Amino acid sequence: MQLEDMYQEIILDHYRNPHHKGLRDPFDAEVYQVNPTCGDEVKLRVTLKDVDGQAVVEDVSYESLGCSISQASASVMSDLVIGKPVSEAMRVGDAFLGLMQSKGQLEPDEDVLEDAVAFAGVSKYPARIKCALLGWMAWKAATAVALEKTALASSAPANTGNETGTKAQS
Ligand code: ZN
Repeated sequence: MQLEDMYQEIILDHYRNPHHKGLRDPFDAEVYQVNPTCGDEVKLRVTLKDVDGQAVVEDVSYESLGCSISQASASVMSDLVIGKPVSEAMRVGDAFLGLMQSKGQLEPDEDVLEDAVAFAGVSKYPARIKCALLGWMAWKAATAVALEKTALASSAPANTGNETGTKAQS
């Protein structure tokens, strides 16, 4: 099986059986975003939790309408960010954005992007890049609102050593 076919298979699989789909309560923030060039829509909710002073993505739930790429990408995105600290999930989002802007020239890092590597070929088609990014953009926007609302820090406190009595090695 060729790589392109395998990637196509991953995308179709997420499209047919989307992960974490459906809107769930409770949530910290909800956004609605559209990709007018293709007609894709997504309504997305983010729930954060506080783990040792660091914001962690507890849940992402969504309803989406539109093309297979936009819906599959939302499914893959939810897999990638749920359970991760927000700072780490943002880095994965940046890696995916980098892949989408690569015009097919970048070799995707499967350790970081997992199933999202399947969208590598999409970066060659400017009209479809917004489809693949819609879910990620909605997640970033909702997370920004949720961070503000919950007053959680997006990354671990810089200086926790003194409070616990242990001295950080530098
Ligand atoms: Zn689309």
